[in-house]
Amino acid sequence: MIDCVILGGGVIGCALARELARCGARVTLLEARSGVALAASGAAIGTLSYSPSAEMPEAWHRLAAPALAAHRALAAELATEISAPPAWHWPGRLNVVTTNEAEKYSRARLKADIAALDPAEAQRAAWQWLDKKPLHELEPALGPKAQGASVNPGMGWVDGAHLTRALADAARQYGATILQNSAVERLLWEGGRVVGALMGERAVRAAAVIVAAGAWSSHLEPRLALPVEPVRGQALHIDLSDIGLTLPLIRHLIGGEGIYLIPEGTGVAVGSTHERVGFQEGLTVGGISKLLSRATKLLPALEAAAWSRVRLWSGLRPTTPDTLPILGPDPRAPGLWWATGHFRSGILLAPITAALLAGSILEGTPLDERLSVARFTQEG
Ligand SMILES: Cc1cc2nc3c(=O)[nH]c(=O)nc-3n(C[C@H](O)[C@H](O)[C@H](O)COP(=O)(O)OP(=O)(O)OC[C@H]3O[C@@H](n4cnc5c(N)ncnc54)[C@H](O)[C@@H]3O)c2cc1C
Repeated sequence: MIDCVILGGGVIGCALARELARCGARVTLLEARSGVALAASGAAIGTLSYSPSAEMPEAWHRLAAPALAAHRALAAELATEISAPPAWHWPGRLNVVTTNEAEKYSRARLKADIAALDPAEAQRAAWQWLDKKPLHELEPALGPKAQGASVNPGMGWVDGAHLTRALADAARQYGATILQNSAVERLLWEGGRVVGALMGERAVRAAAVIVAAGAWSSHLEPRLALPVEPVRGQALHIDLSDIGLTLPLIRHLIGGEGIYLIPEGTGVAVGSTHERVGFQEGLTVGGISKLLSRATKLLPALEAAAWSRVRLWSGLRPTTPDTLPILGPDPRAPGLWWATGHFRSGILLAPITAALLAGSILEGTPLDERLSVARFTQEG
């Protein structure tokens, strides 16, 4: 049985802890904060959405295409593993447009999506365009500027914080140890290998050390630093109870105007900004006002909400220069692995990441070279 130590208790670290422990590894997860899901994974809206026509590198499509199926499988498994799994919602995504230019672009994307799917499957699942009237019948709260939408069926969302805590609970069920308030300061080296993690004087030894420390992943060992950087996201939730609206206000994952909206509890969650401001967490007037003006353009009824019922938060997404995750062993440091840089799709990609990386660590299954550490460490 192999010993693994995972640095970081976000969705990536917790998904990996569960998967490795489930496959028989002895797992210790070390989280710097007072619990899991307290960084980006706790800030995520948790949309689960994939479009074959997304303008992303081929390697991203290879990783993301099976991600929705991996979530469905995970939902079934967690239901048998723990008593309080999160709820997955799969009502589909509406990409709402408010201008003719956006409509032209969105219709072309839909055509490309359908072309990428098996035509019978696209028709069965009803990937389609909705003109204004059927769109407003489907989502009556949309404002008058919403002139049409493409429908991406089978998309949905899951609460990122709940999912992360559930993965940690399931990992514990499989025997993993999860230690909070355990900030790793350095890696432990012996004979040119990484053999563990150091917290002050305390060492946790392992045959495989996996860095899943999100935006902070490159802070651990300066000479091994990889170009993982933070991208701040601000988001908010507007509670609509007691103001006379029929709830839920919306039923689908709605994208449009550069934001997305989901029904959550008695309100609507709105995400999110993308800002390169270093490690500054926190909120700005500019970020929140942008989200609010776009959200109220799509859903004018939100304007009636009491300001005291608006909850605001932010988080730091980990990204890389090519916006692809870094998954795999570090050729410079035998024993060290990376699982980071999931940028805006960490919730979506967590189950598939865990499956691929566990396969590589435990069975030696090859990973996609385009996601490797080497793409940032080799000259030329
Ligand atoms: C506003 C917002 C909305 C988002 N919406 C979505 C969405 O709809 N769908 C989606 O798929 N993704 C979304 N994301 C992106 C997603 O949240 C991230 O990709 C994902 O959470 C990254 O997970 P992670 O585990 O790598 O990082 P994190 O969740 O940040 O976890 C890293 C952990 O490592 C710990 N750590 C750091 N250094 C150390 C150390 N030295 N020792 C021990 N522990 C350490 C940190 O404390 C932290 O808990 C969103 C993000 C934001 C901010």
